[in-house]
Amino acid sequence: MKRTADAVIIGGGCMGASVAYHLTRRGVTDIVLVEREQLLATGSTGRNAGGVRHQFSNAANIQLSIESIRFLERFVDEVGHPIDFHQDGYLFLLSSNASVDTFRRNVALQRSLGVEVEWLDAEAAAQRVPGLNVDGVAAATCCRRDGIADPNGVTMGFVKAAQAAGAAIERDTEVTGIRLDRQRIAAVETSHGVVETGVVVNAAGPYARQIGRMAGIEVPVDPYRRHIFIAAFDRLASAAAAQVPDSKIMVIDFETTFYFHREGAGLLFGMGDPLEATTFDTTVQWDFLPQVIDVAVKRLPALAEASISHAWAGLYEITPDANPVIGPVPQVEGLFLINGFSGHGFQHSPAAGRILADVIAGRNPCFDLTPFDLNRFARGPAAGECYVV
Ligand SMILES: Cc1cc2nc3c(=O)[nH]c(=O)nc-3n(C[C@H](O)[C@H](O)[C@H](O)COP(=O)(O)OP(=O)(O)OC[C@H]3O[C@@H](n4cnc5c(N)ncnc54)[C@H](O)[C@@H]3O)c2cc1C
Repeated sequence: MKRTADAVIIGGGCMGASVAYHLTRRGVTDIVLVEREQLLATGSTGRNAGGVRHQFSNAANIQLSIESIRFLERFVDEVGHPIDFHQDGYLFLLSSNASVDTFRRNVALQRSLGVEVEWLDAEAAAQRVPGLNVDGVAAATCCRRDGIADPNGVTMGFVKAAQAAGAAIERDTEVTGIRLDRQRIAAVETSHGVVETGVVVNAAGPYARQIGRMAGIEVPVDPYRRHIFIAAFDRLASAAAAQVPDSKIMVIDFETTFYFHREGAGLLFGMGDPLEATTFDTTVQWDFLPQVIDVAVKRLPALAEASISHAWAGLYEITPDANPVIGPVPQVEGLFLINGFSGHGFQHSPAAGRILADVIAGRNPCFDLTPFDLNRFARGPAAGECYVV
């Protein structure tokens, strides 16, 4: 492993990969990306649902989406790697007056930023998704340029392009400490030796707090377990299989957070557990499945005919206001954060990585980072993001 570098990136998920790619595009190629697992993209990035949407409640997140989705649309040409991007839309189902009011305000905000979002009644929503039961649905919103993409493809595309430009990728290597010299970054200690550097990027996903503590700062990111289940439809029950959408549209029942989209011949679905406490445990809690199924069969009755072929759990990296932390740490010169994307980080990785690379390279990122500033938490409650699924 190299003993010196201009920058060390900790974490080989979509965030670390995007920062590495964008740094190399800005001429910063003397980089070491350190990942403790044997493979890249096996943390939260490898366990996510691949959803990509413009529909957020916070203007800064909508702007991250606008830039990221434009980037994903030209990813294959620009980065040279397939990402299986399908823009079949995102449909939010709203069942309470409070959600309808909130979404009306947010649709106005999204449209003011140039995003085309449709406002639908329950019947129009049902027409978009064969087999959907819209009982109790008061309204829905849909953006047709939203969709799903392959998180592994995005991460590997960024990494391979960065590597081709000179970045070193160290897998199976754990960061164990950060050395400071009078509140400046001096070196990173790893299981395979020390790398002297003046710049460290904390891209450790749910483990961001632990990396922050190595440099004596508190990064307010906590891990929460989220499940994904894959439903398979028996060929004999073809009547049921015909009652699921043909397209890869993502459907989200906002009140319950139950969501689903087509995944190959089957269906991918998930739901948050409001009672889940913070944990690093990613064991699948099979006793949670009946709760999900209760909600799922109400919205998509064909699921009653399906079997669950497999399931996994991963970690959301949640901040107190569900907005990320992106930018420099004023207290430690040379330390940069790209953390706490609160369940929607994959889709924001292209823009977030570009912005942080600009900041590190001393360029103007042309993005107001105030909503993502680490020190906002000390200033009191901020508006934050309310579309956390
Ligand atoms: C079930 C689920 C569904 C999701 N669905 C979506 C979705 O539809 N759309 C969306 O946009 N987002 C979604 N997300 C969120 C998204 O996956 C995350 O926001 C995103 O992957 C965060 O990327 P990351 O690179 O910061 O973290 P990670 O992918 O976790 O990468 C961090 C890496 O740091 C490494 N690391 C940690 N500590 C050390 C150390 N000491 N030394 C070396 N390496 C270290 C880890 O091994 C890991 O590989 C979902 C998440 C989950 C769990």
